[in-house]
Amino acid sequence: MRRSIATVSISGDFAEKLEAIAAAGFDGIEIFENDFLAFDGSPRDVGRMARDAGLEITLFQPFRDFEGLPEPLRARTFDRAERKFDVMAELGTDLMLVCSSVSQAALGGIDRAAADFHELGERAARRGLRVGYEALAWGRTVSDHRDAWEIVRRADHPAIGLVLDSFHTLARGIDVDTIRAIPADRIFIVQLADAPAVPMDFLYWSRHFRNMPGEGDLPVEAFMRAVAATGYDGYLSLEIFNDVFRGGSPKSIAVDGHRSLVHLMDKVRRAEPGIRISVPPMPARATVQGIEFVEFASGDEGGAALRSELAVLGFSEAGRHRSKDVTLFRQGEVNIVVNSDRAGLARASFLTHGTSAYAIGLRVDDAAAALERARALGAETFEQPVGPGELLIPAIRGVGGGLVYFVDGVSPLSKVWEIEFTPSDAAPRPGVGLTRIDHLGQTVEQDELLSWLLYYTAIFRTEKTPQVDVVDPGGLIRSQAIESADGGFRLALNSAENRRTMAGRFITESFGSGLQHIAFATDDLFATAGKLAGAGFRSLPISPNYYDDIEARFGLDPAVSDRIRAANILYDRDEGGEFFQLYAPAWASGFILEVVERRGRYRGYGAPNAPFRIAAQKRLLGSRRP
Ligand code: MG
Ligand code: MG
Repeated sequence: MRRSIATVSISGDFAEKLEAIAAAGFDGIEIFENDFLAFDGSPRDVGRMARDAGLEITLFQPFRDFEGLPEPLRARTFDRAERKFDVMAELGTDLMLVCSSVSQAALGGIDRAAADFHELGERAARRGLRVGYEALAWGRTVSDHRDAWEIVRRADHPAIGLVLDSFHTLARGIDVDTIRAIPADRIFIVQLADAPAVPMDFLYWSRHFRNMPGEGDLPVEAFMRAVAATGYDGYLSLEIFNDVFRGGSPKSIAVDGHRSLVHLMDKVRRAEPGIRISVPPMPARATVQGIEFVEFASGDEGGAALRSELAVLGFSEAGRHRSKDVTLFRQGEVNIVVNSDRAGLARASFLTHGTSAYAIGLRVDDAAAALERARALGAETFEQPVGPGELLIPAIRGVGGGLVYFVDGVSPLSKVWEIEFTPSDAAPRPGVGLTRIDHLGQTVEQDELLSWLLYYTAIFRTEKTPQVDVVDPGGLIRSQAIESADGGFRLALNSAENRRTMAGRFITESFGSGLQHIAFATDDLFATAGKLAGAGFRSLPISPNYYDDIEARFGLDPAVSDRIRAANILYDRDEGGEFFQLYAPAWASGFILEVVERRGRYRGYGAPNAPFRIAAQKRLLGSRRP
């Protein structure tokens, strides 16, 4: 499998694009005509720069409104094509993309179009060039790859072939299995893009909302399985027009693009075992069994506040690290590590972000395999010197430069707590009933949201839930969760459109993206709330208006509603079950601790309650300011 990307997909100037694309591992680039209209070098310079970066120019595009024109427009468009052939010779590419005509002057007629392509094929062949024909979803008479293929077939010229583009086929909901009947040698290139499922005009959707395979909602995998079934093994080329990417970091967009292609082809290889697909072998997506720990980086002062908050929440000090200033707190299956050591990444993270949860540990089926897969998908691995008696725990970089550690049930990683920590002498506290971590919330910059969704869904066996817009009094927060099938791993990714939201405040106050939210699970939130109150826990006060609203909305039994009102508990319900939430006041940084109880098969995260609790959090934070 050779990988290509259209230069329009990436932000930056031409040199920056090339550097980012080459570094991410691509073999080729598609050149968009506009790319070098803005560039002040010649097509020959563009070609040389690409080759110097080790990249082949896979395609020159687009050539528009070619087929079906009456004379004298027809003669003129052939002249125009000849001039583009000159440019291609200078660039050093042999393939031109012609997209289906949107011209009002085009006459239509499948044989007229075929005759035009036959002649174009003759002219291209004389120069050793080829032409691929692509059906635009909004083409005037040709908007379906089946019609484009029929024209290519009737053109009957070796220099004329088909261009398939997943967006155009999937946007129109065309049956992808029709691709399986197309001979592979007639497919000159395959372009890939995904997009979110938002109903809108095809042209506008395509020009502004395309994203990397796996980042959107289109069935790109089904499309690619059909393409693979033909035996096509040529370039797969990302052609992504996206307003956010245009302003993003060239490096991370190139890395995401490459990751999306490798992940897609790995999925296709697993789904179509009978088809030979050249993608580097790698372990399957890691199954996350649970969140083994969350590690805070802290210093003296913030550390003391964190320790006392953990004590109120019923955590016991379970151990001290044998060689570092690191303490383990435990309750149920929840492990919270507080790292106040003066060296290493934790210290660096504390100095940058203040007291914050900079690392998470995921319990996976096979930690070594998870690391290998992450590496194959271009994740940055992390190692720091290990002291005597310490384990080298596999880790990769995650959100905000933090870490994701992998532990598993295989020795010695399964014994990490016993090996690295001296058990505490003190008798454990009785606890308040926290059993495990229900979910984590990570807050990221708006232009990173898709990157992290792809990261989690490509490396781990997780699926993403539909995007939810959470209304914060200060603006919108976009929230999308990724979950393992059994709920052992749930993580909400949130991004804020501005700094006035709670998510935006967190990014400002903690100097970047990171883990903003931990939700602990309990089997009985009313019992837990009672024990917390006894331990001096101060819950986030919720407005009485909220309770009046949910009583009406859900027709709640007054007895239930009185109980939740008295305890500042929030309530939600879906088809599967019920959800109860209890919040602590947010930290000044915007960091949030919450305890939840799921009853039945409730699937959500209490999003309808978010505006109320955010308003309450902001009221408290506001009143605390000097
Ligand atoms: Mg295309
Ligand atoms: Mg939550």
